[in-house]
Amino acid sequence: MIILGIETSCDETAVAILKISRNNSEILSNFIFSQIKIHCPFGGVVPKIAGREHLKKIIPLLNKALQKSKVKPKDIDLIAVTRGPGLAPSLFIGMSVAKTLSYVWQKPIVGVNHIEAHIFANLLPQIGKSYKLQVTSYKRMFPAIGLIVSGGHTQLILARDFLKYKLLGETLDDAGGECFDKTARILGLGYPGGPAIAAEAAKLKAGSRKLKAGLPSPMINSKNFDFSFSGLKTAVLYDFKKRSSKERKSKKYIQEMSWEIQQAIIDVLISKTIKAAEKYQVKTILLGGGVIANKELRKQFRAKIRKEKSNYELRIPSLKFCGDNAAMIALLGFYYFKSGKIDHWENLKIKPDLRLV
Ligand code: AMP
Ligand code: MG
Repeated sequence: MIILGIETSCDETAVAILKISRNNSEILSNFIFSQIKIHCPFGGVVPKIAGREHLKKIIPLLNKALQKSKVKPKDIDLIAVTRGPGLAPSLFIGMSVAKTLSYVWQKPIVGVNHIEAHIFANLLPQIGKSYKLQVTSYKRMFPAIGLIVSGGHTQLILARDFLKYKLLGETLDDAGGECFDKTARILGLGYPGGPAIAAEAAKLKAGSRKLKAGLPSPMINSKNFDFSFSGLKTAVLYDFKKRSSKERKSKKYIQEMSWEIQQAIIDVLISKTIKAAEKYQVKTILLGGGVIANKELRKQFRAKIRKEKSNYELRIPSLKFCGDNAAMIALLGFYYFKSGKIDHWENLKIKPDLRLV
């Protein structure tokens, strides 16, 4: 079965083609155009500009994907497209293209949930390598705890089975990625803030990592599974304002603060996820979203799970599948299709505030 995936929920235009068969499934192509540079001067994603850029890129990317895959429209068996959550002007473009293709090519279409797709990104292999994907293998990862942390979301999800989800908690204010972005801005680092803070933190030698600002790890001890990151941002702002202009610009200060911000976010994410995994006695922890590309987070998560000698397995997508991509959309579309969940282009709509449950 050949599946075309289309993703335009935020600021990445993405098209992928997957071939799924009993013995030899593979990603035939996976193209992503990131608009980061375009939104950079604004310090964040501007929805209208994002929509306009998707419109420019989506057909050229579709063309490239078909060419690289050596797939003709007639070979495609299913079109999978992101329905939400996301920015309306962005979602509109992917959805319009997918619906048009479904109509013109006379192909089935399915609209998928972007957050759920991030959970399924854990099943994606390295690009180019053939891999075996038994249709039922995904079942083995459930029950699972999913932690999705991106620029727009921070959610802890209990996945009892495919299509059986419960939102355990989410951020009450800023998302994890948003916290990286906003604190980086305070420190005068560029956008996106996550990679910038990670790079500064990595320059700090292990011996000189002492807590300077004493930043909070918000809600780390709260009884629920919600998150809050705006207090951390405010604490960074207060500390920054307290410093002399010379100190604010010093490499040492920037590096120490970056390390402390990153660590505060990592501590909360790991602690809450493990608490949830223990409470619900799950088989796996599945991570996803742009922030999961953070090397220190990946390292500390793995180390913690090893130390806990827990019964559950930790799965982290390869770096290229942490952020937004269309391979995860196509894969989830395949599972929807197999379970009989299918849409019709006439009725399919975007849903910017789509919830998992
Ligand atoms: P997404 O919304 O999934 O596209 O992810 C984008 C968000 O992830 C932005 O807020 C980035 O700052 C953040 N991000 C990307 N790479 C990293 C990283 N290495 N460390 C921390 N955050 C990151
Ligand atoms: Mg995302």
